[in-house]
Amino acid sequence: KERILEVRGLNVDYGLGPESVRAVRDVDLTLHRGEVLGLAGESGSGKSTLAYGMTRLLPPPGIVAGGEVIYTLDDGSTVDLLRIRDADLRRLRWSEIAIVFQGAINSLNPVQRISTQLVDVLKAHSARSTPKARQDRARELLGLVGIASDRLHSYPHQLSGGMRQRVMIAMALALEPRVVIMDEPTTALDVVVQRQILRTLVELRERLGFSVVFITHDLSLLVEFSDRIAIMYAGQVVEEATSADLYRTPLHPYSDGLLHSFPALKGPRRELSGIAGSPPDLRSMPGGCPFHPRCGRAMDVCATRTPVLGQSTAGRSVACWLHPVSVG
Ligand code: ATP
Ligand code: SF4
Ligand code: MG
Repeated sequence: KERILEVRGLNVDYGLGPESVRAVRDVDLTLHRGEVLGLAGESGSGKSTLAYGMTRLLPPPGIVAGGEVIYTLDDGSTVDLLRIRDADLRRLRWSEIAIVFQGAINSLNPVQRISTQLVDVLKAHSARSTPKARQDRARELLGLVGIASDRLHSYPHQLSGGMRQRVMIAMALALEPRVVIMDEPTTALDVVVQRQILRTLVELRERLGFSVVFITHDLSLLVEFSDRIAIMYAGQVVEEATSADLYRTPLHPYSDGLLHSFPALKGPRRELSGIAGSPPDLRSMPGGCPFHPRCGRAMDVCATRTPVLGQSTAGRSVACWLHPVSVG
């Protein structure tokens, strides 16, 4: 399958020097053309940091400490998103790679009709179209995401959270991007709404042919809708598999735990049931496998040697001593 976005050896730190913490560590990730790639992991595992890092949208004190993000353009040429000029990146960001970030629905302007906000996006990026054409396109985009045209002139507060999220997707799709990255907040939308949103995205993906990176802690959603899933723990991808493989036979004990977890409905820590303990403090990571203090299957080797993500003998990509990486 054709690769469209390839992350290689990405490292992201918050802060500099001895006070810094590494929130994303040596991440490799490939997005193929037309596919839905899900990214899952507990709160704080680095999902958003990865998404921000690979698109160079990290808020300070976040810094990309190394790696490459290779994007393949329509003509087959490639660029490294981490190294192209700011102006080139800005252009790519709307027209090729659209991003709907955690909390983005709060970025809708409360005192502007959604039609105006959509038209503004179109105006800013396609100077030649007429006002009439832009209005029609705004209507069409909202239709795509399932918002009836009588809502076109609503203000954000007149719409439910789910509808505002759809408006954000409509904006993201305005310039027909080839990649849509969507980072779902752990708490803001309920699972029913998330499911509808993801279903809408997946249907549109089939019609419009873009690729999706969908970030959520809710693995059941990903199993249902994505082609492949990458599981993050303490800043690292610990397993990557097709949804079917991951669902049937999760190889990493953490993946297995996540599959059998449900997010707590209350409480600020947003803990998951099913996996005892909590993620390590990035400032003092345990030696060996970062998951070993919580792992029910830990062996002696786990406390001393760090497994790396690689092709295990089963032909699956996992970082765990239960599934040694095949050599040669
Ligand atoms: P969630 O599911 O809650 O969105 P996440 O997987 O997206 O979680 P991140 O927000 O990427 O996790 O955070 C990864 C790690 O980086 C966490 O340990 C977090 O505390 C740390 N972190 C995030 N933002 C900052 C910051 N501005 N300064 C320092 N550390 C940060
Ligand atoms: Fe558990 Fe060891 Fe595998 Fe880590 S390497 S997940 S501690 S079995
Ligand atoms: Mg996040």
